[in-house]
Amino acid sequence: MSKQTHPRFYLLTLGCPKNLVDSEGMSELLSTNGYRATDDPDRADVLIVNTCGFLEAATDESIGALQELAAAKRPAQMLVAAGCMVQRFGADLIRQVPGLDGLIGTRSWPDIVPFLQKLRANRRHEPIFHLPETGEVPVETVSLRRAGQRPRASAYLKIGDGCSAPCAFCTIPSFKGPGRSRPRELILREAQSLVAQGVQEIILIAQDTTAYGRDWGEQNGLPDLIEDILRAVPDLRWLRLMYAYPGHVSRRLIDVMAAHPQVCHYLDLPLQHGHPDTLQRMRRPHNVEKLLRWIESFREAMPDAALRTTFIVGYPGETEAEFQGLLNFMQAVQFDRVGVFTFSPEPGTPAYDLPDQVPDEVKQERYQRAMELQQSISLARNQSQTGRRLDVLVDGAGDGVSIARSYRDAPEIDGFVVVEKELPVGEMVPVLITGAMAYDLMAVPTDQPLMVV
Ligand code: SF4
Repeated sequence: MSKQTHPRFYLLTLGCPKNLVDSEGMSELLSTNGYRATDDPDRADVLIVNTCGFLEAATDESIGALQELAAAKRPAQMLVAAGCMVQRFGADLIRQVPGLDGLIGTRSWPDIVPFLQKLRANRRHEPIFHLPETGEVPVETVSLRRAGQRPRASAYLKIGDGCSAPCAFCTIPSFKGPGRSRPRELILREAQSLVAQGVQEIILIAQDTTAYGRDWGEQNGLPDLIEDILRAVPDLRWLRLMYAYPGHVSRRLIDVMAAHPQVCHYLDLPLQHGHPDTLQRMRRPHNVEKLLRWIESFREAMPDAALRTTFIVGYPGETEAEFQGLLNFMQAVQFDRVGVFTFSPEPGTPAYDLPDQVPDEVKQERYQRAMELQQSISLARNQSQTGRRLDVLVDGAGDGVSIARSYRDAPEIDGFVVVEKELPVGEMVPVLITGAMAYDLMAVPTDQPLMVV
């Protein structure tokens, strides 16, 4: 550690938006305790990688990033691994990344400042761990003001962590522990702070947002929370929901989403498959008829709604007939957006040991077929938007065009609205949709009154 008054930290975030929120929390704690952020690892006193441990590909990326930093590390620098992979692999990481000084698990990041102090005082030159037992860890109760961070028009707001669902392919509950909701007053305070800083879109995230409040016995915690947020920040333009669990979406959630114009008529509902037998082996809700009825009610209440989902192809035992069932399901529902993944067998999950693992080439072939089908569906759904007037949030501008998003597009995973004019970044502006591609829409600015979604 250098002798400068303000030690610098370099923080690399990998993985999903939930990790990003944790990184923002660490940054804020470090910045308010005398540290300065730097984008240059060479200039940093502390190197932190907030890792992802979800699938093999993600852990490979996290290990690669840590190894790269470890190889270039100066003797006075400290290297810290944080996040999911640390919680999942613990001491095994030390063997893979010689040079690690500290390991801090998920939900322990609020202790980052005293943890770094402990590392600085460590004279034994052996890595120090801060890994709570997953079953006993409370959800973090640090309220993030995020003051001093780059003002943005869109921000994630974490409402819970961990997951209590039994999905047979998923590693998350094993290292994140059961689902825990964050206290309502902290969420409301954060929402107020974000809006005061100019945020126009708040995106609610958790492993399962629809589980909000279930850990303290509320069955309709999420719709109640949405209404509380809207009361707390009446000037918020968009409130978006991600990661809904099909077994937890209620009629009241639909009603609340439909009743409040600030709530984006958008739902990310990861279904994972569309055939009841595959879903049953996945230990997921498998009453497909019920699911179809729910989607129908959702669309009846919000005919303009955009539905996003994800599917896993090549799950153990997935027959050609089951895969065909998935394609039929996709045809029947006509999702606006679909993410398709090939099954990744993760050690420690029940699915890892299931018989009838599907060969890689079959997984790839099914992936291609599902993607091709969805591209034609997405194109048709996008074409139906042509001629609509929509408000869009401008994410970037240059070369005579702006990259923006409508209520139908979550950041980073969905498409864009490409507007044929350079518009102020971070502003919400009305546009007329003039063209459609499979993923993106084309638009021109319009002076017509804003439409209410
Ligand atoms: S609901 Fe999602 S996070 Fe929870 S166990 Fe299932 S796949 Fe994993």
